Amino acid sequence: MRRGITYFLPCKPGSVYINVTDRCLNNCLFCIKREGPLFFGNDLSLNGQYPEPIEIINCLKMIPFWNAVKEVVFCGMGEPLLRYECVMEVCQLIKDQRKDNVKIRIDTSGLFWAYRKKLDILDWIDVLSVSLNAENAEKYEELCRPKINMAYDILINFLKSVKRSEVNHYKQSLHFPDVYLSIVDTSEEEYLPASGREGYPRGEFPSPDFEKCNEIAKSFNWSLLVKKLFRDSQDKIWNEPPFFDLCAQGKPLDMCRNCSFRH
Ligand code: SF4
Repeated sequence: MRRGITYFLPCKPGSVYINVTDRCLNNCLFCIKREGPLFFGNDLSLNGQYPEPIEIINCLKMIPFWNAVKEVVFCGMGEPLLRYECVMEVCQLIKDQRKDNVKIRIDTSGLFWAYRKKLDILDWIDVLSVSLNAENAEKYEELCRPKINMAYDILINFLKSVKRSEVNHYKQSLHFPDVYLSIVDTSEEEYLPASGREGYPRGEFPSPDFEKCNEIAKSFNWSLLVKKLFRDSQDKIWNEPPFFDLCAQGKPLDMCRNCSFRH
């Protein structure tokens, strides 16, 4: 069984994260990937070998206490929805197996929307978390270094489409996931990847404007989540087996020195 397809975060015991791709349409200055592929005891470099749904499901089943896991999150070292069909199939298999005993969340930049305008995956998930990251295109370009043109416009168009779909689903009393937007608090500059903060004098690293981002979230009637930078994701303590077992069981970790924010 290959490692690095599923992993845990110490600040989210009970949640298992899935790494479906390392491809991304951004190159964010705060991205943990800049520090290398090691992340909380797992090497998340997939070396171009992206897991198929059956491999992902088998990895989930191999997790000790898989039946106790409360949440599955598609996140990883890239943009999960660049593998839309794969993620959709895994969501369906998880819901078949675990029914409503497990929540499914997708963390996305929304930029897959540049290539694929589909939203049917939302019928299969419980939470959609979209990285807003900035209050305008200029700040987004600086913080996220997108590899495609008009990225912020694409993101906002994606959000508008999700909102339209949400309204339609509610009108028909159909299931729709909870949606929230997120930004990263980049003020703790010492925790930024070295290559990300390069060229920025101390105290001048760009931060998203919380109030303006909150206004954008409110305009959609969604919440805004502020994520903190990871502090010790490369630490060797995460290689200890108890970490995986405790996380899978949803037990709080004494060893966690990370932030208390949801990732
Ligand atoms: S969108 Fe996420 S995975 Fe992609 S570069 Fe930014 S932080 Fe990294």
